[in-house]
Amino acid sequence: MGKKVKKKVKIYEGKAKIIYATDDPNLIIQYFKDDATAFNAEKKGTITSKGILNNNISCAAFELLSKRNIPNHFIKKLSDREMLVHRVDIIPIELVVRNRIAGSLAKRMGHAEGGFLTRPITELYYKRDDLGNPMINEEHIEAFRIAAISDIGTIRFLSKAINDILCFWFDKMNISLIDFKLEFGYYKTSILLADEITPDGCRLWDKRTNKKLDKDRFRHDMGEVEDAYEEINRRVQALNLEK
Ligand code: C5P
Repeated sequence: MGKKVKKKVKIYEGKAKIIYATDDPNLIIQYFKDDATAFNAEKKGTITSKGILNNNISCAAFELLSKRNIPNHFIKKLSDREMLVHRVDIIPIELVVRNRIAGSLAKRMGHAEGGFLTRPITELYYKRDDLGNPMINEEHIEAFRIAAISDIGTIRFLSKAINDILCFWFDKMNISLIDFKLEFGYYKTSILLADEITPDGCRLWDKRTNKKLDKDRFRHDMGEVEDAYEEINRRVQALNLEK
């Protein structure tokens, strides 16, 4: 991938990222913004430098997953806020892996946050902001022709491996990976992990104090939001330097 790609037109602007085309139809640029939204965009704000921190964190996570042979869209970091990725057709499913009780699971099951589970849970949500991303299962996916059922088997299998890799990685930083959301896409004949791995889409708690170091600080007006993202980035970079 020696050739320098040229950035072309904006093709999509989401809540936290902008996608640009390049002169190669198979490659796109993900640009990370400082904008933050929560509760299906009912709450909006900005987190200073979040785009730079999230790009750093996500690049490091994808580099690790590439080394561990997880098929993914990442090619390379291009700049402070930009990463070059394969252009995939996103499967309209958000897969959430939960290692501990928190967030909507705590609410739905009537349990306090922080509780332990006897095993990790994988949940599937239909990626439709206009419907509030409802939870679905394999039968909905098949009956509504959202994706091939064998592909759901593949993304469930990959998610388990990704959870093991990321839990171990964050543990080395003294961080508990409480839960996280993944998105996958089709690229030619493969399924690749896509999107991002950042404190926007992961719950990350300090292992010793249980302090939340993720977007929950923004969602629930807990303060020290920028500090939390900076702290995660600091620990990721420190671990990278150790290698
Ligand atoms: O809100 P809930 O507890 O269901 O979120 C589970 C995990 O998925 C959290 O880490 C949250 O950051 C992430 N998530 C996300 N995007 C969504 C829904 C959840 O990144 N649309």
